[in-house]
Amino acid sequence: MTDFNATRSRFDLPEDLVYLDGNSLGPVPRDAAAAVARVVTDEWGELLVRGWNDADWMGSSTRIGDRIGRLIGGPEGTVIVGDTLSLKVYQALAAALALRPGRNVVVSDSGNFPSDLYMADGLFRTMGSAHELRIVDPDAVSDAIDESVAVVLLTEVDYRTGRRHDMAALTAAAHAAGALTVWDLAHSAGALDVDLAGCDADFAVGCTYKYLNGGPGSPGFIFVSESLIEEVRPALSGWLGHEAPFAFDLDFRPDPGIGRMRVGTPPVLALAALDVALDAWEGVDMADVRARSIELSERLIAGVEASCPTLDLASPRNPDNRGSQVAFRHPEGYAVMQALIARGVIGDFRAPDLIRFGITPLYLDEADIDRAVEILIEIMATDAWDTPEYRMRKAVT
Ligand SMILES: *Cc1c(COP(=O)(O)O)cnc(C)c1O
Repeated sequence: MTDFNATRSRFDLPEDLVYLDGNSLGPVPRDAAAAVARVVTDEWGELLVRGWNDADWMGSSTRIGDRIGRLIGGPEGTVIVGDTLSLKVYQALAAALALRPGRNVVVSDSGNFPSDLYMADGLFRTMGSAHELRIVDPDAVSDAIDESVAVVLLTEVDYRTGRRHDMAALTAAAHAAGALTVWDLAHSAGALDVDLAGCDADFAVGCTYKYLNGGPGSPGFIFVSESLIEEVRPALSGWLGHEAPFAFDLDFRPDPGIGRMRVGTPPVLALAALDVALDAWEGVDMADVRARSIELSERLIAGVEASCPTLDLASPRNPDNRGSQVAFRHPEGYAVMQALIARGVIGDFRAPDLIRFGITPLYLDEADIDRAVEILIEIMATDAWDTPEYRMRKAVT
């Protein structure tokens, strides 16, 4: 059984705050500052360039990749960290397309995060290829997969509504048509009990600053299935994906394993923060996290629906079809969220009209949910959101 009191005590959250935005930026682990300071002082400071060997900075991208792999059903040697999620989307899609020559359709859905679609479009233009993006309704993905499809590119959990795709079923449908899958786990890794190997997923990508609490701008990750890795020719073939980077060969020869998906120098300081953040997941059973997430989400939905008739649930009602976030619609959602934030309840807003709450059992409990609901009820009952100040949009919503 996971000890959620122990996981909660690993985070430094201000007392007077209810933090429901861990799906956008996870909070700082209590040990992060000291861990990063130690790497700066003892490793960078003392070892200088020797740190690459003596502190195994060079091995950190696969070592930390394996730690993430354990949370998403990726066996050892199938996950590596580095770069940003957007770059990892590009890399995974390029690799998958190269494995399906003669097919020119990439299926995605209208609930996908725009950056994933932009990266696909940019990749097609760089390739000068005749590939086309077939963007369909989330419910129509399965029907859109036919023999012309090279790759199915999906985000498992919709960043706005929290709607969750059936990864196993859609992966099987893609394979039945001879297509490959690229799963974006931005709202899955650390949020759900993902089983990449069990679903026979081909490629997956994700970020570490949301549910994994790696800190603002912490690196992305990529998974490639064991059965494909040897066939993958990396499109972003940087020197650190080479079999022998320090041979300085003029020709690129890929690393035999997942190392080939590394591009350049690992971000050592960012990885130090991510590494300590992953300590919070030691001894945590993702099935327990999922069960708690559903309990807390149901409590939030019930509390809001009982007393806020102008807020409409935008997330699937059935928890099986939902990730670890809950969204409500309101025509003045932005102002509502600003009023909440001003009262110490931090969620976020997604255009055009969604207020969004991340449910993160590692550091949230019933008391947090109840406090958030109580404050939201008060704001809605008194129209406290209805001020010019709360309607003024900031750059990051
Ligand atoms: C957060 C998110 C991203 C962000 O990509 P970055 O390159 O890390 O900025 C991409 N895709 C999805 C689905 C996301 O939710």
